[in-house]
Amino acid sequence: MTTHLVWFRADLRLHDNLALAAACRDTQATVLALFIATPEQWKQHHMSPRQASLIQFSLNELQQKLAEKGIPLLVREVADFAASVDELKNVCAEHQVSQLFYNYQYEINERQRDALMEKTLKGVVCQGFDDSVMLAPGSVMTGDRQMYKVFTPFKNAYLKRLKEGLPECVRAPSVREKVSSPVEQAIKLSYPQTPFDPALFPADEKSAIAQLRHFCQQRAAEYEAKRDFPAIEGTSRLSACLTVGLLSPRQCLHRLLAECPEALEGGAGAVWLNELIWREFYRHLMTFYPKLCRFKPFIAWTDKVQWQSDPEKLAAWQQGKTGYPIVDAAMRQLNETGWMHNRLRMIVASFLVKDLLIDWREGERYFMSQLIDGDLAANNGGWQWAASTGTDAAPYFRIFNPTTQGEKFDKEGDFIRQWLPELKAISGKAIHTPWQWADKEGRTLDYPRPIVDHKQARLETLAAYEAARKA
Ligand SMILES: Cc1cc2nc3c(=O)[nH]c(=O)nc-3n(C[C@H](O)[C@H](O)[C@H](O)COP(=O)(O)OP(=O)(O)OC[C@H]3O[C@@H](n4cnc5c(N)ncnc54)[C@H](O)[C@@H]3O)c2cc1C
Repeated sequence: MTTHLVWFRADLRLHDNLALAAACRDTQATVLALFIATPEQWKQHHMSPRQASLIQFSLNELQQKLAEKGIPLLVREVADFAASVDELKNVCAEHQVSQLFYNYQYEINERQRDALMEKTLKGVVCQGFDDSVMLAPGSVMTGDRQMYKVFTPFKNAYLKRLKEGLPECVRAPSVREKVSSPVEQAIKLSYPQTPFDPALFPADEKSAIAQLRHFCQQRAAEYEAKRDFPAIEGTSRLSACLTVGLLSPRQCLHRLLAECPEALEGGAGAVWLNELIWREFYRHLMTFYPKLCRFKPFIAWTDKVQWQSDPEKLAAWQQGKTGYPIVDAAMRQLNETGWMHNRLRMIVASFLVKDLLIDWREGERYFMSQLIDGDLAANNGGWQWAASTGTDAAPYFRIFNPTTQGEKFDKEGDFIRQWLPELKAISGKAIHTPWQWADKEGRTLDYPRPIVDHKQARLETLAAYEAARKA
């Protein structure tokens, strides 16, 4: 009897799952699936309780859908990655597994775990797949086989590769001839969980595919014009689905091209494709520069910036009480829903680093602890971009003005009013400078005055970066 085991990690779906499809190719084999929760490891990685909740929900769905195909999903819980390899070994021995199928993860701890796994599992053939990317890391390189450090040439080379041949999607498995007995237990992970709003984030594969279809049909062509305005539904909100693997990026690519066939040539939908390529860029970079997983900046001199340790200001930023309405509304959106609009992520990150001069790693960690879509590569990439410590990042002297950013991207203040009810009384543009409004009207607001003066903070930050550059 041949038994194949699929180890599910961040790929909680049946459609276009390369490891699952490969495991099912031999119709005579018995196929088992496994998920190993590692709460201690997740805690070290600052995984958010909302993401844990999404994983639990998705796992229950996955278990049911796999059972319909005759594939039982076993769920185990151990402390950390090292223990997960021991657990995997036990499962392989218990079920006489001959072949193990899994999709690669590119973060350093995950890669070390997989290296240990391959060493430990003697007698089991292990096969890994580049499933969470459209093109595998290492397949888009410069002429002298180096990883691109700048996005635009990477994107151009990437598009060229895509035009030469699109990565195909694989089908969901058919019902197995050899059906294993299903596992009938509701999955309950011990990791702390915070419920998420399923109206905001699809939590099962079917809804994720439906949302992708809807977005590509209705909104992808207008994405370029609408994506920067947090008060409107201009983006896909599919990031959490991509992070836990309810969707693959190949599915996104194919659905986009079905609705916007000119996207590869720079036509409608091209800007959304661009974002999917940013996601790939950060994953490829992380594979080539493991220091990015170790809290190291890409640009070495930026590690000499003298950050300020100010727990009160950090807490004000975290709680959305800085006195700058666009920053505070964004942080409340994050804290209450587990998601934040991309434009706002850039604004609040710039504010923490360049107005408060607080170490970007504090922000990176806090985001991971709150985001439902928390993803090491994208989060680290975003923070290093905003802090000007990353490759192809914003130059250090580019410092967003939080007031004008609000005026530009939430002109009427609709987004701010949604998240800061204490400012509802202020009509029009005055909402962006509530302290001036209060002074003028002689009113007292239940809202803080700015915790820093932007102009002054900007000068101090420029001086701190200059000093680090010359050190
Ligand atoms: C400081 C900061 C932190 C971030 N942290 C994360 C994170 O932890 N997880 C995460 O998925 N994204 C992160 N991003 C990127 C981006 O903000 C989110 O992917 C996006 O807001 C998700 O919303 P959406 O699904 O509607 O995206 P859409 O605009 O519809 O984009 C489609 C998909 O492309 C990918 N994507 C879009 N923009 C980026 C980007 N700049 N970098 C990498 N991938 C991108 C996402 O997978 C997204 O779902 C971060 C950005 C910044 C500036």
